[in-house]
Amino acid sequence: MSEATDCIFCRIVAGELDCDRLYEDDDVLAFRDLYPKAPVHGLVIPKRHLATLNEFDAADAALLGKLLLVARQIAAEHDLEGYRVTMNVNSLGGQVVFHAHLHILGGRQMKGLG
Ligand code: 5GP
Ligand code: ZN
Repeated sequence: MSEATDCIFCRIVAGELDCDRLYEDDDVLAFRDLYPKAPVHGLVIPKRHLATLNEFDAADAALLGKLLLVARQIAAEHDLEGYRVTMNVNSLGGQVVFHAHLHILGGRQMKGLG
């Protein structure tokens, strides 16, 4: 059980909240965004509570890499020729849920960042 019981993504990891699971292993969980911004919109998270990218340290480099590989796998499983992977960091970066996550978006033409 995570230390961050008020964190919605920790509660999803713990099985207290449902999710539409796309991938799971010992370290990583991926599931569909509840409010999708594209036909395919997944969230890829470390199971361990790390609030933002800024909390990863050098020892977490493999975990960080795995998040990207899982996003790529989800894109492949959905036959996405092109897709976008983003991570919002802190409120000014557009982050709303403070449990670090990658967004994998695809199935429509992506436009410029804004
Ligand atoms: P952020 O803005 O923090 O980068 O993205 C958070 C994302 O989490 C948003 O796209 C939002 O739609 C999604 N989200 C918020 N609450 C839930 C939830 O309870 N379940 C799922 N699957 N997604 C959620
Ligand atoms: Zn959390």
